[in-house]
Amino acid sequence: MAVDSALSSPLGPPACEKDAKALQLIEEMTKNADLRQEKVLAEILTRNAHTEYLKRYKLNGATDRATFKSKLPIITYEDLQPEIQRIANGDRSAILSAHPISEFLTSSGTSAGERKLMPTIQEELDRRQLLYSFLMPVMNLYVPGLDKGKGLYFLFVKSETRTPGGLLARPVLTSYYKSDHFKTRPYDPYNVYTSPNEAILCADSFQSMYSQMLCGLLERDQVLRVGAVFASGLLRAIRFLQLNWKQLAQDIEMGCLNSKVTDPSIRECMGKILKSDPELGEFIRGECSKENWEGIITRIWPNTKYLDVIVTGAMAQYIPTLDYYSGGLPMACTMYASSECYFGLNLNPMCKPSEVSYTIMPNMAYFEFLPHEPNSAGFATLDSPPKLVDLVDVEVGKEYELVITTYAGLCRYRVGDILRVTGFHNSAPQFHFVRRKNVLLSIDSDKTDEAELQKAMENASQLLREYNTSVVEYTSYADTKTIPGHYVIYWELLVKDSANSPPSEVLNQCCLAMEESLNSVYRQGRVADNSIGPLEIRVVKNGTFEELMDYAISRGASINQYKVPRCVNFTPIMELLDSRVISTHFSPALPHWTPERRR
Ligand code: AMP
Repeated sequence: MAVDSALSSPLGPPACEKDAKALQLIEEMTKNADLRQEKVLAEILTRNAHTEYLKRYKLNGATDRATFKSKLPIITYEDLQPEIQRIANGDRSAILSAHPISEFLTSSGTSAGERKLMPTIQEELDRRQLLYSFLMPVMNLYVPGLDKGKGLYFLFVKSETRTPGGLLARPVLTSYYKSDHFKTRPYDPYNVYTSPNEAILCADSFQSMYSQMLCGLLERDQVLRVGAVFASGLLRAIRFLQLNWKQLAQDIEMGCLNSKVTDPSIRECMGKILKSDPELGEFIRGECSKENWEGIITRIWPNTKYLDVIVTGAMAQYIPTLDYYSGGLPMACTMYASSECYFGLNLNPMCKPSEVSYTIMPNMAYFEFLPHEPNSAGFATLDSPPKLVDLVDVEVGKEYELVITTYAGLCRYRVGDILRVTGFHNSAPQFHFVRRKNVLLSIDSDKTDEAELQKAMENASQLLREYNTSVVEYTSYADTKTIPGHYVIYWELLVKDSANSPPSEVLNQCCLAMEESLNSVYRQGRVADNSIGPLEIRVVKNGTFEELMDYAISRGASINQYKVPRCVNFTPIMELLDSRVISTHFSPALPHWTPERRR
């Protein structure tokens, strides 16, 4: 149903009046981006004028950009550690924000091996909610009829802890799903999920996934879109179906819920949904028992119009696998967000993944952009402080690092994301997500940098000492052909005494030792989420890394500047490495992980 032409939006004719309002708001915000930004900054600086942080930099109540830029430093998480620690320990004074810190959001970025703690305030939920409220109105411009069915979304909460001072610490999505904004959201025919809240809110990942999958199967004909937050999450759901379809089909045939699902609220709500349907059970058995799972998503959910998953950034590695399981359905990347702040949305969500651009919404925070010179460190020096560019002043084609000032009290904070400007919607720029800085390996939400990998290597190679063996060279690879994906580390060893070379079990233990040294997000993925498979070491023949260098030089690398790449994914290099493998080893156990932080 098209709406009144008076409500028509430059983005396209809205599907309903509610959508018209949302699209109008997007238009207004993006047309007046600079003014909005000025207001946002003034609002943040006014309300936080008496915070310890702003007083320290002697802002003296100024709210204008020039004073702000001249007085406040550009910072990273490490710079804020002392303040964050104090808040975590229970200091309730206005350190960063005049509004009370309501909880900490635990970022998937880490510091000293632990998740970063991002302070947030209650009203940030409204801002996140506003961004979510834009997504369907935009999608409805491109995909008609989404009010005629449901979305099968695999959404999960994760464990939460309390800081010594008593504040909750949990991931931003857990905070959102547990909020009234989500739990008591008003009915919207364009945004109905097959998963009941009870299933989403169950902290046990097996029971949650099982019941969400069961609901999706029961309503297979109604499902119009299938999604998860990240591509890795959707693939995990497919893997889950591969492992559990027999039981799921049986539950449907019998109309009786698997006894492994013990959560009383899930059992109660499934009691109302689950009815015996032998025909459907038979159908699922038929499809899932086939050897070939190509196009399984459209075979089971034949009315699916698109997949709703983020496949930009590190998640792009999953595109071929998702293509395989979905028979090439479009993949919509709808938004760009973080624990620190939700940034923006994709105004053309049905575009190809390689063409995705996110439009930053100028009401979410005050945004600045640090020009990113790919070959420079990009840090300020005393002689030349970096010149940050405002939102509306970025230039098409250039790359920048995102710097934010948020309502919750982060000031000129480097997010660590590198973005390239692709164009503008009105006066708001649109960005291609290039990459996150310093991330070498990522399978799910884990982010492992070079220093962490090096440390893990050093710790693991201690086990080789008694065999008089050392690792002469190494590199790594995120293997996403397996579900879940896993880290592969290629080792070239120098065995000084071939009569006493390290046995296979010791190399297996080296895999585990590496995992124990990796950060808590990695270990949580291994232990609690089962989103990362056991780490693998592939030992390669002596001389392999020299061959790797020869190859790079033959392709134009300078012999003087050649450095062993610490992560590889270029097919010819992978082929070279794999053809030289002499033994492979897997981590024999799970590393340690508990929700509690080490510090
Ligand atoms: P977290 O700290 O766990 O909240 O993760 C936030 C980070 O995830 C962002 O800073 C990005 O690096 C990444 N991210 C979030 N949304 C997207 C997206 N749409 N495309 C690519 N990367 C994203």
